[in-house]
Amino acid sequence: MSELKLAARQIAGDSPGPRLLITGGVHGDEFEAMAAIRQLARQVDCRALRGGLTLVPVVNEAAFLRGQRSADDQLDLARTCPGRADGTVTERTAHALSELIRAADYYIDLHSGGTIMSVWPLAGYTLHPDPDVLAVQRRMARAFNLPVVWGTDPSLPGRSLSVARDARVPAIYAEYLGSGLCSAAGVAAYVQGCQHVMVELNMLDGELPASQVRHVVEDRRESSGHMQVCHPAPRTGFFEPAANLGDRIECGQLLGTVSDVLGDEVAEVRASSSGLVLALRTFSRVMAGDSLGVVLEDAAADGPPGG
Ligand SMILES: [Zn+2]
Repeated sequence: MSELKLAARQIAGDSPGPRLLITGGVHGDEFEAMAAIRQLARQVDCRALRGGLTLVPVVNEAAFLRGQRSADDQLDLARTCPGRADGTVTERTAHALSELIRAADYYIDLHSGGTIMSVWPLAGYTLHPDPDVLAVQRRMARAFNLPVVWGTDPSLPGRSLSVARDARVPAIYAEYLGSGLCSAAGVAAYVQGCQHVMVELNMLDGELPASQVRHVVEDRRESSGHMQVCHPAPRTGFFEPAANLGDRIECGQLLGTVSDVLGDEVAEVRASSSGLVLALRTFSRVMAGDSLGVVLEDAAADGPPGG
């Protein structure tokens, strides 16, 4: 079996500096990052760049060509890292991605809500046990300059950021809407966010703009940041949201309903905490257990619970 190589663009700066890896399309149905990274490849001037860039617009090409989150082996690439060189297509993709991450000095992984979800714009990172790595990740996430900065459980396995964590490569990820669209605002925000991180890391000259960050939350609870398990659908059926993405919601307030096809049997789903609606299902057909939304708890805003 031949080794899988990711389609990457390398840009070597005229001056020495760190190596930054930027990836999109870890999930095949998340499109803003793919467009943004191609745009970055055209825009970054090697005469102004200190260090080097490795740009991978579409990590998971097999999933992208299916128009789905995952390739036809049904493995989620963000649960499969570090993968293996002689495995299924997703395992081999995970292996190739992990090699690139370990070769980098810094890493940005760009996502979105995919076909079925929409996510309020955020930059996130793991609450890395090494304070030096964590401090750099906080700086990168703030410089990326989206409304929400979210630090979460560092122990989640299988992700690109898990590989970065183990290799002590400072890393952030970002989310920007989704629903199977390619938001022009999201593409622009991703291009600018990456450029701002490069300024923050002294790879480019420039000024950082006024901060757009409105919420900084660090949540040390187990599985925080795992969006696929929040507010599970109580039944299979038709989901209708009762809240809007980015709205404030109170604990116990209706997040949405799931009904049978005639609408005779309606199951309510209520917010399990108060806060900002950070992610919301936008694809109406749901299976029992699918996540319907994520609430970013205010309680954690002034300091991480449990220290
Ligand atoms: Zn994703």
